[in-house]
Amino acid sequence: MPALAGVLGHPVAHSRSPAMHNAAFADLGLDWLYVKLPVAPALFEETVRALPASGYRGANVTIPHKLAALALADHATDAARGAGAANTLTFGDDGTIEAENTDAGGFLDALGSSPRGRTALVLGAGGAGRAVAWALREAGAERVAVWNRTPERALDLARELGLVHVARPVPAEIVVNATSVGLEPDRSEEEMIAALGLEGLEPPAVVVDLVYAAGVTPVLAWGERTGARLVDGLEVLVRQGARSFERWTRRSAPLEIMRAAVRER
Ligand code: NAP
Repeated sequence: MPALAGVLGHPVAHSRSPAMHNAAFADLGLDWLYVKLPVAPALFEETVRALPASGYRGANVTIPHKLAALALADHATDAARGAGAANTLTFGDDGTIEAENTDAGGFLDALGSSPRGRTALVLGAGGAGRAVAWALREAGAERVAVWNRTPERALDLARELGLVHVARPVPAEIVVNATSVGLEPDRSEEEMIAALGLEGLEPPAVVVDLVYAAGVTPVLAWGERTGARLVDGLEVLVRQGARSFERWTRRSAPLEIMRAAVRER
């Protein structure tokens, strides 16, 4: 029987993680299988606790379970504690559960160059915004400003992590969209840029959009206008997945194979 891994979410049908991880297992000749695990919140904890005895070595966790995943773990990494959420669980041979947040490190890997000494603006104070803001701070960004549609959440996050809360987006060298704005089919690009308060703001040197879509997202198109270096959500997805893969298998993740698998869709 293959070693198992999977993604726990509700819903999880859209996930590209099975294609990405199964391609990586096949490339390295590993007898592993990665599956979708749709689980309602009320059943999350009992499902997770049953996974190790069913042959699971690890799992990714997505909306809405990331806080619950951290809460039930026996151990948590600094990134999971710092972000206040876990997207990766690893099951030990003794049945213990370790929580990690690879969204944070995966974001830094995708960024491609160190943010040390740079200014950054994070749009969004949900789960992804928290992970990105924590990662930027840990990696030595000079000033991390956080903006959110609901200002109280940005204020809380900024207080908790010792960052700057801004009432409207301010210029920065790195701008990260960690909101879910960018996928609404019935809204124009201008409307989405306005929803994020970016209209009238000069695009920076680097623009990262965690939202992934088939084409160029509104935020990436905004950055493209002035020739910003663009990092898309699929690269962040691959990099967070690679970190999970390496944690479970202790093998180097085949990044090109994983990239091809997520972009094929
Ligand atoms: P979340 O916890 O539900 O947070 C959603 C965020 O989007 C909040 O900050 C929310 O603001 C904001 N938002 C939603 N609708 C908005 C609107 N119309 N105008 C302005 N802001 C709006 O979700 P999440 O887990 O942080 O994920 C956010 C996005 O990142 C999702 O699209 C997700 O797919 C993506 N993501 C990608 C990766 C990757 O690997 N590429 C990893 C993680 C997440 P309020 O607080 O005001 O509601």
